[in-house]
Amino acid sequence: MRGLMQETPLLISSLIEYSATYHGDTEIVSRTIEGPIHRTNYREVNRRSKRLANALTTLGVQFGDRVATLAWNSYRHLELYYAVSGLGLVLHTINPRLFPEQIDYIVNHAEDRYIFVDLTFVPLLEGLKDKLKSVKGFVVMTDEAHMPKTSLPNVQCYETLLGAQSDQLTWPVFDENTASSLCYTSGTTGNPKGVLYSHRSTVLHSFGVCMADTFGINSGDSILVIVPLFHANAWGIPYGAAMCGAKLVFPGMAMDGKSVFELLRDEGVTVTAGVPTVWLMLFQYLDQHKDAKLSKLARVVIGGSAAPRAMIQRFHDQFGARTMHAWGMTEMSPIGTIGNLLPKHLDRPFDEQLEVQVKQGRGVYGVDLKITDDEGRELPRDGKAFGNLLVRGPWITSGYFRNDGGQILDPDNWFDTGDVATLDPDGYMQITDRSKDVIKSGGEWISSIDLENEAVGHPAVQEAAVIGVPHPKWQERPLLVVVKKKGGEVSRADLLAYLAPRIAKWWLPDDVVFVDELPHTATGKLLKTKLRERFRDYKLPSASDAAE
Ligand code: ADP
Repeated sequence: MRGLMQETPLLISSLIEYSATYHGDTEIVSRTIEGPIHRTNYREVNRRSKRLANALTTLGVQFGDRVATLAWNSYRHLELYYAVSGLGLVLHTINPRLFPEQIDYIVNHAEDRYIFVDLTFVPLLEGLKDKLKSVKGFVVMTDEAHMPKTSLPNVQCYETLLGAQSDQLTWPVFDENTASSLCYTSGTTGNPKGVLYSHRSTVLHSFGVCMADTFGINSGDSILVIVPLFHANAWGIPYGAAMCGAKLVFPGMAMDGKSVFELLRDEGVTVTAGVPTVWLMLFQYLDQHKDAKLSKLARVVIGGSAAPRAMIQRFHDQFGARTMHAWGMTEMSPIGTIGNLLPKHLDRPFDEQLEVQVKQGRGVYGVDLKITDDEGRELPRDGKAFGNLLVRGPWITSGYFRNDGGQILDPDNWFDTGDVATLDPDGYMQITDRSKDVIKSGGEWISSIDLENEAVGHPAVQEAAVIGVPHPKWQERPLLVVVKKKGGEVSRADLLAYLAPRIAKWWLPDDVVFVDELPHTATGKLLKTKLRERFRDYKLPSASDAAE
């Protein structure tokens, strides 16, 4: 027997309509590319999204067509989120940090019809324009006064385009399984692959984002969205914030410590979210401004890479802010687990809470998790056994765009994340490593992530990466590659002595190399493939001992 409730489709337009009606005055603040801080609100964003939707219709884009953005976090990018998906078109958010040849690859793969571009990226597109076969025109996200001279063909100004349109529109209603947005994985190996979200998956994920035990965002929050709108829907925050009417603060292109700090302070930010590298830049600034205070910052969502213990500690010590360590993937919309404390942890000393917080968190409602061995047998949730981490659920991909990679789920719909993890009896998941990055030493596994987390706890270390280097006796041994802090002094021997009491004896790196910088992927993760290439022939001191 079917239930008798209304089958109202879950559509992205309902989010912005809701916030415009119930939280119309709530601010959306952006540091603009042109310079000044810009203020608008949900009511205006809804109105302008409708103008933009009307403009898109006059441009002749059809239901299901892809419209791309190459842009920083700003109110205009937010308007595109709602206008494009709201009309039943697909918003393709391009990561500008991809290599240019990857950008033309994904534009052609997605068959983008129009590209909306921030001033910063106009030259990038000028270099690629002859290769972008499907693109009918470009829209520069600025006003007439700032329109650049450009060789891009069929180019228009965003504000002029909007200015010519009415804000009268009733968002169309269609099947909730319609595609809404498209985001390509950064493709550290092979071509990037497209993850195609639907309205249904996005709205369900938004409920997930707002739940009290996940990000717990609500109308009292002011959220600084450092995670880019071009990276996995900025972790779903632009949608979740509209669902609950939270204030949004966008940093534009200014990700330096000073600019980020000023927004945190001046906009009364209560929640912020970003990858660890951004917080390292903030800490560098804070090191030089010891009296810097933030009275409102309460929660910091850190994900994309493991949040080091020292980072969680610093947010706590300096601002009394609680880190919510999160894990997910582009393929998962992206939220999988979120690290909040359980009631039994609340009375424990901070040191003990830290042990819980360094884990990547507990599975959220909507995401099934399990770990398996290489034969696919499920492993116990005892916090010790580690294996391949598999996920499934309504906001997890069922296959890449245009069937790249073929069938990616097992017969029971489980998706292999490529991560290796433990699950403990309380449901906390901890990533040991990417399966490709784990170091295999004498038949045992060493977690590069654990070693990196410990190494960055040293006061003179800015950033650290650990990779496996071939070893005649042990197959692989860890090599620690370190970027020192400006003015920081530390030697190989100091670092090894610092690590020794903190890790298992046989995990101690065999050598330490100091470099000026580490390579990163387009989403800010350590690019280990490149490091492994660079140090492929590196001779560990212990290797010659073993050979003798
Ligand atoms: P990309 O587009 O670079 O693949 P994703 O955000 O989709 O970006 O990357 C997902 C991967 O990032 C995960 O599979 C995992 O390896 C890593 N990751 C994400 N969050 C964390 C975290 N909190 N700790 C450790 N690794 C993480």
